[in-house]
Amino acid sequence: MVAKLAAQGVSDAQVLAAMGAVERHRFVDTALVNQAYEDTSLPIGLGQTISKPNVVARMLELLRHGVTGKLGRVLEIGTGCGYQAAVLSHLAKEVYSIERLRGLHDKARENLRTLRLPNVHLLFGDGMMGYAKGAPYAAIIAAAGGEAIPAAWIEQLAVGGRLVAPMQTASGAQALVVVDKTPQGVKQTLLEAVHFVPLKSGTS
Ligand code: SAH
Repeated sequence: MVAKLAAQGVSDAQVLAAMGAVERHRFVDTALVNQAYEDTSLPIGLGQTISKPNVVARMLELLRHGVTGKLGRVLEIGTGCGYQAAVLSHLAKEVYSIERLRGLHDKARENLRTLRLPNVHLLFGDGMMGYAKGAPYAAIIAAAGGEAIPAAWIEQLAVGGRLVAPMQTASGAQALVVVDKTPQGVKQTLLEAVHFVPLKSGTS
């Protein structure tokens, strides 16, 4: 899988190493294990999906944007099965990951238990409000896309920090968005089209 990612253009050695360190098959149902290393998104229950490895790698590469060493505190919105949080644990000092569906929050806890990643903190709640207690974050990454970037995310991003998220564009399609918070202000860059599950408010 890592060799394929490199061939597809992922060049950040730390991202490739982190992707190589986490066994993706541990995060999917037994029936899907033989598809775990293919470049495809897979169902994780409750209508949600684990993203394609190539999209995870692309977003993590954007998030790191050449930062040497580890990122500081990172907030992930949409824990899902916990796969991306596990990959992030190798790239960041602390990972706060929030999920709005109790069933998936519990599943991620179960999946991550045996990996013993003390720097991953799983939270149950509405990630649209971010997680103020862990702020400011060096980086924020979302695995679900809404119509706009919630104001709380920008507020909780550190100056010098970067946010990567899917977002609905004017045409109704979804695209990746990078937000850089600089001392001069907030800069937003729209990138390629993506297909993520919707960002929803509240918990369930
Ligand atoms: N990173 C995950 C991808 C999960 S899919 C993984 O590696 O498996 C995206 C997840 O975002 C879904 O589980 C969905 O329930 C969750 N989500 C959607 N809106 C949310 C919100 N407001 N707060 C927290 N999680 C949310």
